[in-house]
Amino acid sequence: MKKKYETPLLDELEKGPWPSFVTEMKKDAQKSDIANDGLGQLEKSFRTKRGYWKHGGIVGVLGYGGGVIGRYSSLPEEFPGVAHNHTVRINQPSGWFYTTKALREICDIWDKYGSGLTNLHGSTGDLVLLGTRTENLEAIFAEYSSRGWDLGGSGSAMRTPSCCVGPARCEWANIDTLDITYVLTQEFQDELHRPAFPYKFKIKTAGCAVDCVAAIARADLSIIGTWKGRIQIDQNEVQNYAKKGMNINAEIVNMCPTQCISYDGKTLKIDDVECSRCMHCIAKMTKALRPTGEKGATILVGSKAPIVVGSLLSWVIVPFIKAEPPYTELKALIHKIIEWWDENAKPRERIGEVIEIKGMRSFLEYIGVPPHPSQVKFPRKDPFIFFKDEDFEKVYKKGKY
Ligand code: SF4
Ligand code: SF4
Repeated sequence: MKKKYETPLLDELEKGPWPSFVTEMKKDAQKSDIANDGLGQLEKSFRTKRGYWKHGGIVGVLGYGGGVIGRYSSLPEEFPGVAHNHTVRINQPSGWFYTTKALREICDIWDKYGSGLTNLHGSTGDLVLLGTRTENLEAIFAEYSSRGWDLGGSGSAMRTPSCCVGPARCEWANIDTLDITYVLTQEFQDELHRPAFPYKFKIKTAGCAVDCVAAIARADLSIIGTWKGRIQIDQNEVQNYAKKGMNINAEIVNMCPTQCISYDGKTLKIDDVECSRCMHCIAKMTKALRPTGEKGATILVGSKAPIVVGSLLSWVIVPFIKAEPPYTELKALIHKIIEWWDENAKPRERIGEVIEIKGMRSFLEYIGVPPHPSQVKFPRKDPFIFFKDEDFEKVYKKGKY
């Protein structure tokens, strides 16, 4: 007979119209000691305002260094169900597409060895399975891997690459985000499973700058689909938007970040040379505007959530790179970027922080990418671009000044 916990504080989290993890844990507690004692320990934490999880150190499966996040209760006698409470990360399919059969398979294995509680999806993208014991880990891995699943990344490693649904469902995709993510996941298998980096490294791929996967804010390396040609304009559709009540000047022209759109009440014009491919106008006037010409990707580097230093958004490093199979150029660039970071970072420094410390110049020189105006965040007061005396001498010799 399971101990029944009184949970007046957790019960507060069931109020309101939104789904509640407490409700789900209570359902699961009918059959799982992990969920039941998890509720008991959490209620106690809320009451005493103290956490009772110990960091689990290194816990994993043979041959892998990552994929399992170890966690133990510091009150194992009081809450034996969560004495071990490890989290297992499963590498999600590109774009998070599953069949119901695949989801049932995942849940059945998890019911057999773990709490039954899942978190779809963790912020890196993995399918997260919450709560199991150390002695179950090898069996869990054997069952999942025999059915074609693999563990995701954790710790100081390449984290599981993720992407938006891209061309599978979205007409704005400029690149095949699903294929890129699959190929990069295969390319970096060793880096994913065997943590050897200074800290985590995340790759996210979005089909366009709408960035549904929040790469620009959260990935160390973002691959964003873009285009080289003009934005094709259907003026009749522009008029239809106006007739339906869209204030084109307020909602489109004034919102263009580079101020390259004009509208005189009849004709919409775009100065494509000045367009930064931000997607705002296209996303608002889907029927009237469409990218044309060669498609590829912009590579950005350096974003992260606030951990050691504050949060960072990415910098554009390469404005346009081909993103077609076999992705030779893209893969070589990513290897170079990681190599520079691995050589220069102290433990727990993300690549954005190292660029701030070492300077954009040494980074660009190492990866062999020439300076470009798109890499400058704040023209004229950018702290990363420093000139050496030889640079000026070269210019003087060419007689430009
Ligand atoms: Fe579509 Fe762009 Fe969102 Fe990807 S990021 S799903 S291509 S709108
Ligand atoms: Fe302006 Fe963005 Fe539209 Fe380009 S894509 S024209 S920058 S709003």
